[in-house]
Amino acid sequence: METPANIRQNGANSAGGGRGGTPEENGSRGGFAAWDRTRMLQAMSREPLDLVIIGGGITGAGIALDAAARGLRTALVEMQDFAAGTSSRSTKLIHGGLRYLKQLEFGVVAEVGRERAVVYENGPHVTIPEKMLLPFYRGGSLGPVTTSLGLMLYDRLAGVKRDERRVMLSAEETLKREPLLKREGLRGGGLYVEYRTDDARLTLEVLKRAVEFGALAANYAAAESLLYLSGRVAGAVVRDRITGERYEVRARHVVNAAGPWVDTIREMDKSKEGKTLRLTKGVHIVFDGERFPLRQSIYFDTPDGRMVFAIPRDGKTYVGTTDTDYRGDTARPVMDRDDLDYLLNAANFIFPSLKLTSRDVESSWAGLRPLIRQEGKSPSEVSRRDEIFVSASGLISIAGGKLTGYRKMAEKVVNLVGMKRKADGLPAQPPSRTRNLPISGGDVGGGLGFGDFVRRMLPVGTAAGLSEDESSRILRRYGSNSRRLFQLAAESRDFAERHGLPAALAAQLLYAMEAEMAVKPEDFWIRRTGMLYFDRPQVVKWKEAVSSAMAERLGWSETQRKEYDRELDRFLEEAVNPAMP
Ligand code: FAD
Repeated sequence: METPANIRQNGANSAGGGRGGTPEENGSRGGFAAWDRTRMLQAMSREPLDLVIIGGGITGAGIALDAAARGLRTALVEMQDFAAGTSSRSTKLIHGGLRYLKQLEFGVVAEVGRERAVVYENGPHVTIPEKMLLPFYRGGSLGPVTTSLGLMLYDRLAGVKRDERRVMLSAEETLKREPLLKREGLRGGGLYVEYRTDDARLTLEVLKRAVEFGALAANYAAAESLLYLSGRVAGAVVRDRITGERYEVRARHVVNAAGPWVDTIREMDKSKEGKTLRLTKGVHIVFDGERFPLRQSIYFDTPDGRMVFAIPRDGKTYVGTTDTDYRGDTARPVMDRDDLDYLLNAANFIFPSLKLTSRDVESSWAGLRPLIRQEGKSPSEVSRRDEIFVSASGLISIAGGKLTGYRKMAEKVVNLVGMKRKADGLPAQPPSRTRNLPISGGDVGGGLGFGDFVRRMLPVGTAAGLSEDESSRILRRYGSNSRRLFQLAAESRDFAERHGLPAALAAQLLYAMEAEMAVKPEDFWIRRTGMLYFDRPQVVKWKEAVSSAMAERLGWSETQRKEYDRELDRFLEEAVNPAMP
């Protein structure tokens, strides 16, 4: 195998040996700071590994956690920021899969329903139960009987707790819950339980836990080509997109969890054959809560017979999604004029009194569904199931799936790795441990629940000089990691003052850099806080101060700072101005 001179290499393939144990037993210091990137990449290229994962979305993060918790020496490389692909661009629901019921995929409904409960138990700070209202109208695709039976079946299949099961409402009760709904033709509604999440934060919390278990992970690290040993895939050449340095990362097994890029990696492996991906774009638009004061999450029929969500969140309301075939830049899907018109039309159809226009749109995002191609089906009809492909060289690719099923998908992939290891004569690996393993920030103590944890911890935040509201927001975003944020708020007054930042924002920024590998302003505003989508005016207000604080802490050059600021401005611009279709 040829090795260019500027590529750092790791050792030969490891025979591997499960370390098992807790993060503490493994001696991991859990360093996941922006300044740990080079150390991480060097360690990947120095140590012989069991597994390298390409892709730091929820799928790759889940696999990293499952593998590291079983003791496999694991590395993950992400060519953008973690979750910058589809995993920060979803509808942000951990759902039981009602749409699968419409497609009669009962097995999927049951599996995602069970998994939803697990995701909630392990990360109550990133999963919030949310009642969803399904209104039905005269002449619509759903009626009281079909909705009632459908939701009942859904509750049963998804194993929903008795007190959370569906409730059927009259037209009057439906309007009471959501007065903005169109009155004409309304026959009633069904109320059922869903869970709201922050997809990017979920991905980060999973990955942080994996790192605590000893996994090595770096963002802005692209797998440029694959390495082979006697015809078998044996690692990847990884380029650090910040420094330009290349690393040779060798591993016994390579997992391709590249989401919309799964086929690109299969092309590198010369194994893109048989089933391929079909990318469909889904767009969401965001309104301020004053302009669109939605009280209740709604899942409604559109004029063209699809279904769209309208969801209130943190003083904003978001509406989505579209579902159209996509052939543009995979790294940069954006809302275009047709997407905007479609969503405005759908929202005005069901909330006619609002008369929303494009001027009311405060932000937007667009994501690509990496679906498995099924000939003759429209985008909305294509199955959302995940599928694993193993190529002749041994490359394991995983495609499709949902946020909700990430843990189960990961378990399947690592079980497959275990079978391959066994076939190679290596010791059996332990079973998956993730079912009852809190993700980072999820150690909030059992018993009385997350609400009680927040109440108990509020005084710690106020003692650090934050208001109750700021403390509560931090607790709800960071769960058990909030202790560190409160500490940072108390310790970094000088830093906050020097850059003119409010203490709560400064603490989050410092935490993002020291514990969540935030490298650029966009990482902080989009994936560490979600503020570019849900509080764009605040981003505009504080972007200079954040950029100056990051430049100081991370030692950026003037050119770097200018480039990163420009990138953020482009995101801010694209979020409100539709591209030409
Ligand atoms: P991604 O998140 O795209 O991650 C793949 C990563 O691989 C990317 O970050 C990419 O940069 C990286 N990568 C690619 N090539 C390389 C390389 N050469 N080297 C290094 N890294 C590389 N699911 C739900 O459960 N609930 C929902 O509400 C929901 N809503 C959705 C709404 C929309 C509009 C869309 C598009 C999807 C939705 N989904 C939802 C599905 C869910 O978001 C996806 O299934 C999931 O995020 C896919 O994650 P992933 O890790 O496979 O892909």
